[in-house]
Amino acid sequence: MSPVKRPKTAAERRQRAGKILQYLDEKFPDVTCALHHKDAWQLLVATILSAQCTDERVNQVTPGLFRKYPTMRDFAAVKQEELAQDIRSTGFFNNKAKSINGAAKKLLKDFRGQVPANMDDLLTVPGAARKTANVVLGTAFGIPSGVVVDTHVSRVAYRLDLTKETNPVKIEQDLMKTIPQERWILFAHQVIHFGRQICIARKPKCLVCGLNPICYAKDKVTA
Ligand code: SF4
Repeated sequence: MSPVKRPKTAAERRQRAGKILQYLDEKFPDVTCALHHKDAWQLLVATILSAQCTDERVNQVTPGLFRKYPTMRDFAAVKQEELAQDIRSTGFFNNKAKSINGAAKKLLKDFRGQVPANMDDLLTVPGAARKTANVVLGTAFGIPSGVVVDTHVSRVAYRLDLTKETNPVKIEQDLMKTIPQERWILFAHQVIHFGRQICIARKPKCLVCGLNPICYAKDKVTA
């Protein structure tokens, strides 16, 4: 039996979510997106590159990439095969090159070369599913359109019983119900840092985790 009393009512669940937010604020007060970028277009490219790749690797690749292709038009004009070689070290490079090339063409054709600042339009851009769109809207425009759900947010939300889902879209819906909208952007950044440093995938550092008293994850490390 779990040693931790689970919240039963909506009020208790809200109170518990408040404790989680308070801990994240104390531990990660100033965190933001780790992907280096100068504008919304560069962030979109970096976010597409970050799929199945570390932010560190992406940050190694993007300075040279943006030197070689300084504008969106350069990305639209390059042959996909050449772009794929430029981003090879980020993995899945053929698909990513297709997405970036397609995104540049789409933005130039339909959005006057601007990254749109709304979810509906962003979702029409090649390579931009909800996670990517949430990263761009949240970090580049400060718009809380949803909660970024990556591998860290998925794992931590599940362990902390903020969701019972495994599908990222459903996880996001659960988080949007529990976490206040004004916290969506920061919450995702905080949880990503928390997931990288403390609630790591294998052997989470539960003994030093401030959420231990209110966590009833099955894979919690107790010694
Ligand atoms: S107690 Fe362990 S499993 Fe639970 S949130 Fe903390 S690090 Fe993650």
